[in-house]
Amino acid sequence: MNTLYGSTPEEIEALVVSSGFPKYRAAQLVDWIYQKNVLAWDEIRNLPKDALQKLSEKTQLTALELVEEKKAAAGSTVKFLFKTEDGHFLESVLIPQREDDEEPGGRQTVCVSTQLGCKVQCVFCASGQGKFTRNLTAGEIVEQVARIARLTGKKITNVVFMGMGEPLDNFEATMKAIHILIEPWGFAFGARRVTVSTSGITPKILEFVKAVDGRVRLSVSLHSSIDDVRSSLVPINRRYPLKDLMSALRRINRDLKREITFEYTLIAGVNDTAEEAEGVSILAKPLKAKINVIPYNPIAEYPEKAPTPEAAEDFCRELENRGLRVTLRQTAGREIEAACGQLRLDRVRRKE
Ligand code: SF4
Repeated sequence: MNTLYGSTPEEIEALVVSSGFPKYRAAQLVDWIYQKNVLAWDEIRNLPKDALQKLSEKTQLTALELVEEKKAAAGSTVKFLFKTEDGHFLESVLIPQREDDEEPGGRQTVCVSTQLGCKVQCVFCASGQGKFTRNLTAGEIVEQVARIARLTGKKITNVVFMGMGEPLDNFEATMKAIHILIEPWGFAFGARRVTVSTSGITPKILEFVKAVDGRVRLSVSLHSSIDDVRSSLVPINRRYPLKDLMSALRRINRDLKREITFEYTLIAGVNDTAEEAEGVSILAKPLKAKINVIPYNPIAEYPEKAPTPEAAEDFCRELENRGLRVTLRQTAGREIEAACGQLRLDRVRRKE
């Protein structure tokens, strides 16, 4: 479905001109959509009523509807469940961070989904458990950012492609959404404020980095330094094993000198050993990669345990002692089912 969210200035201009209105009306529309984040036609004030009427007959402005909003605690993660036009659910998260020197107003990160379900099927992830339905459009991706900005009144500072779905498996829409997010006529985020997280589709990683000239941040879900363990957690590792993945990342690091981040979901008794810490350091050190350690957020479908806070800290210390930069992520959203895709999965099951 075609919506104005997700359209480029050229596409909006073609629509405006073919509807019999002057070109400059397109620039006005682009501004209302991406800078002011309007969500209804009647919020657009400097276009004649007949123009808005005619355009609304030809196209839609938006494609999503808010179904549920869940907040963990004051100042903490907020989760949003949206419904698409064809009746499917997707989720997005707002992650506020405290003020610091770098971000005096506090960072406000929106985590967007790129697919309904996910074909990668990581065993510990709720998104991978539900049925894969379809890719999201670029409009449905960027509209999540606009809606959260409007719903919360917050100035969104960062966008991460870490919600439901594998962004590089929906390559075209992801690239178009990034374009809209970082262009000055669009949401105008600095490219370094946008992060794409991938499970490791090696050829697509190279294509992605080349397309954005390394400007948009890349985060790779590592989860293990041992092929067998990684394959049991992230099945796509059988197709793109660590050797191939690391050789692609080394190329990116060498040619573009870009920083790479590894995400590491820490699962008690599965990938929290000293052998893993050593393996991770061997992989990450030559790339000077940063490691985000995320304690596993248990889901019913994967009955392993979250590490204790002490065990998570010990694992991080093991990495730090080997000279790596490590961040231990808080699981602030556990009480609101903030595990990737969990809120949607519950809703889909209730519907079934
Ligand atoms: S962790 Fe990401 S790639 Fe893996 S199943 Fe979940 S959404 Fe897909």
